[in-house]
Amino acid sequence: MTSKILLYYKFQPITDPDAVRLWQRDLCEGLGLTGRILISKDGINGTVGGDIKACKTYVKKTKEYFRGIEFKWSEGGAEDFPKLSVKARDEIVAFGAPGELKVDEHGVVGGGTHLKPEEVNELVANNPDVVFFDGRNAREAEIGKFKNAVVPDVETTHDFIKELESGKYDWMKDKPVISYCTGGIRCEILSSLMKNRGFEEVYQIDGGIVRYGEKYGNSGLWEGSLYVFDKRMHTEFGPENDPDYVQLGHCVHCGAPSNMFYNCASEPECRHQYLSCEACREENPYCADCASASHQAPASQS
Ligand SMILES: [Zn+2]
Ligand SMILES: [Zn+2]
Repeated sequence: MTSKILLYYKFQPITDPDAVRLWQRDLCEGLGLTGRILISKDGINGTVGGDIKACKTYVKKTKEYFRGIEFKWSEGGAEDFPKLSVKARDEIVAFGAPGELKVDEHGVVGGGTHLKPEEVNELVANNPDVVFFDGRNAREAEIGKFKNAVVPDVETTHDFIKELESGKYDWMKDKPVISYCTGGIRCEILSSLMKNRGFEEVYQIDGGIVRYGEKYGNSGLWEGSLYVFDKRMHTEFGPENDPDYVQLGHCVHCGAPSNMFYNCASEPECRHQYLSCEACREENPYCADCASASHQAPASQS
């Protein structure tokens, strides 16, 4: 049996999210798919895995209601998800702005202009004022980001509105701004929130960093690794030892290069994910705060 993972989202008005939730749950249960699906009045956002035939049926059925939805196929399967979770929520990405987002049959209304990967490079080549704006959590940018990108101080997408309204970024309101995130969904919303707050020329990348990286590898404007939300924690756009690869991440304990995030061993009290090299992780499995607080002094300072 060959299995696969499907990643997808679609913004479209849904009059009865709960009915769509029940339909999607029954569909996945019947096909033996597991994963996580969120539905709101504005659309659907999901990742499911299972047998390739079941995935194909899921795609066909889901397209009947979500016309034009694009699915990204990825390696993996049901074993990557312990269970099936299908929920109806206020938002499919939690920006804390369910009343502000406007969606019609074409998608988000008033969002940033979509750019294909090659159009990103053209825009940057033709305009020295272009600013990259990271639409992810600050932690994700520690190991990879667009060249000279502005990385807002956010721990979750909930922090963006406060950050945009802080005045810190007013200097870029009359500049061309390219917002970017992993697969594009966060910037569909973020770019509309930015335009509503006076950012005049906002762009977003079709398919996000993932599609840009597929096109350019390490030879474009992207630097470093891409943070991903599964066991791998990060992925690269080129072969290991690629001479074009730019190493951004460093171990919080010894400063050695590292792209590997670990969960602090003081869980559940501490929920920090932090960068560490393998040697330090074995000796001192705590984030910098917890390590200095109580658990143990670094071995080198006896
Ligand atoms: Zn280290
Ligand atoms: Zn900690």
